[in-house]
Amino acid sequence: PDLAADVLAGLRDIPDFPVNGVVFKDFTPVLLDHALRSRIIADVVDRRRGQVDVVAGIEARGFILGAVIAHELGVGFVPVRKEGKLPSAVHAQSYSLEYGTATLEIHQDAVSHGERVLVVDDVLATGGTLAATCELVERCGASVAAIELVLEIGPLEGRSKLTGYDVRSTVTI
Ligand code: 5GP
Repeated sequence: PDLAADVLAGLRDIPDFPVNGVVFKDFTPVLLDHALRSRIIADVVDRRRGQVDVVAGIEARGFILGAVIAHELGVGFVPVRKEGKLPSAVHAQSYSLEYGTATLEIHQDAVSHGERVLVVDDVLATGGTLAATCELVERCGASVAAIELVLEIGPLEGRSKLTGYDVRSTVTI
C-alpha cells in the first residue's frame, strides 16, 4: 500500500483560507481516519525508534501527531507554543511570516543538554516555523535529531531554511 498516495487522497483543499489566494491543505480528514493515521505514525516510529530522547511538537497540529509519536517511542513530549502560553521560563524565537512576524516559545528546562530531539509538525510550507523551532531546541543545549512532517509543499522551498537537518515528509507535493 502506498502511504504517500493515501495521505494525499485524504487531504482536503480549502481555497482562500486563512486569507484570499491561499489554498489551505486541511489535514483533519487524515486525523479522522484511524487506519491511515496509524500508518503515518507507525512509519515515523519505525524510522526513529531508539534514535531520539524526546519529541517536540509545534502548536497546534504538531501536538496531535507529536504526542502520539512520543507515546509510541516511549519518550517525553515537549510543546513548542505560540507566544504567551507557556507558564514557566521560556526561550523565545521570532520569525517572519508573509505579513508580519510570529513568535514561538519553549520552556528553558524542557529539554536537557545533549538530548536528541525529534521535531514534529503537520506541514512544511516556507519553513519559518520549523527553523524557529530548531533554534529553540538548540538554545536549550539539545540537538535536533530529525524533523518529521506529514506534508511538504515543495515549491515554497521550506527545506532551504533547514539545511543540515534530517527532514522527512510522508508526502511531498
Ligand atoms: P511555514 O512556517 O513552513 O511557512 O508554515 C508551517 C506552519 O504553518 C505549520 O505549523 C503548519 O501547521 C502551518 N501551515 C502552513 N500552511 C499550511 C497548510 O496549507 N495546511 C496546514 N494544515 N497547515 C499549514
